[in-house]
Amino acid sequence: MKRIGILTSGGDSQGMNAAVRAIARSAMHAGLEAYGINLGYKGLVEGNVFKMDSLADLDGIINRGGTILRSARFPEFAEEETQLKAIEMLKKLGIDALVVIGGDGSYHGAMKLTKHGFNSIGVPGTIDNDIPGTDFTIGFDTAVNVATDALDRINDTARSHQRIFVVEVMGRGAGDIALWSGIAADADAIVIPEREYDIKAIANKLTENRKNGKDNGLIVVAEGVMSAEEFKAELDKYGDFDSRAVTLAHVQRGGVPTAKDRVIASQLGDYAVQLLLEGKGGMAVGIRDGKPEAHDIIDTLENHKHKTDVSLADLNDRLRF
Ligand code: ATP
Repeated sequence: MKRIGILTSGGDSQGMNAAVRAIARSAMHAGLEAYGINLGYKGLVEGNVFKMDSLADLDGIINRGGTILRSARFPEFAEEETQLKAIEMLKKLGIDALVVIGGDGSYHGAMKLTKHGFNSIGVPGTIDNDIPGTDFTIGFDTAVNVATDALDRINDTARSHQRIFVVEVMGRGAGDIALWSGIAADADAIVIPEREYDIKAIANKLTENRKNGKDNGLIVVAEGVMSAEEFKAELDKYGDFDSRAVTLAHVQRGGVPTAKDRVIASQLGDYAVQLLLEGKGGMAVGIRDGKPEAHDIIDTLENHKHKTDVSLADLNDRLRF
C-alpha cells in the first residue's frame, strides 16, 4: 500500500479537521502518501484531489471547526454506477485505500465501496452521535457544549421573565444531544424520539411548578421528535404559558472543537491508518471506554443500531423540580 485517500462527507462536525490531520500525519509517519479529496463523494467521482505534501501543511487545523476538505451531499452515490466510477477514479489516481469521515450516510458509501472490493474505513464524524460501534462520534462533545451554553443563556432570560422556553436541538433521529445538553442545563423536560412523552403531563408539571414557586421552564426537544414551534403550539393547549420557541440549528455544528473531540479524532484517525497498515480494510472504527476499536463495517451497519442511553432521561426525571 502506497497511497491513502481521505474525505469528509455529510454534515460537517467539529473535530473533522483533527481527524484529517491525524490520518494524514499517521500515514506520512509510516512512509505513505496522503491525498485529500475535496467535497466528499462528489469530489471523489470527479477526481478533485490534492496531495498533502508535508506535515507542515497540516499545521493549525486541529482546532478549526468545519472541514478543510469541505463536504457535499451527493445522493447519486447511492447508485452502483456512481460507486463503480469512484473506484475507477481511485485506481486511476493510484489510491489504495480510503478513509471516510462522516455520519451514517457517509458510512453507507464506505460500506458500498467495501462491498465492491475497495478497502475503505469509516471514522465517525457527526454531531448526532447516531453511529453504531462507538460510544461517541467526533463533534458530539462540542455540539453538546455549544447547546448547553445556549440553554444556559436561555435559562437566564426564562428566569428573568417567568417564561417557558421550548428549545429544539439537533441529533437527526437520535436524542443524545438533547439528553446531554438538557441534563447539563437543568431542563424541566427532555423530549427524545427514543422514549414516549406526554405533553399534557409536561404542561401539568409546569403549572404545578408555578404553584410551588418555580415560574419558569426549559423544555429541550430533539429535532427527531418535532420542531420547537410545533411542540410549543401543543403545549399551549394545556396551559396559559408565556412560552417561546427557539431552534438552535446550525450553531451546534460550528466552532472550535473541544479537547475531547480533538483527542478522539486523533485516536481514531491514527487507528484507521494502523488498521490499513495491517492490511485490514472494510472496518468502522469507534471509541469504547476510551479505547479505539474496529468492527466490520458491513456487519456494523446491517446488524447494529446506535443505542441512545435512555437511562439519562430517567435520571433527568428524578432531578426535576
Ligand atoms: P450527518 O448525519 O452528520 O449529516 P451523514 O454522513 O449521515 O452525516 P448524509 O447526507 O446522510 O450525511 O450522507 C452523506 C453522503 O453519503 C451522501 O450525500 C451520499 O453521497 C452518501 N450516502 C448516503 N447514503 C448512502 C447510501 N445508502 N449508499 C451510498 N452512499 C450514500
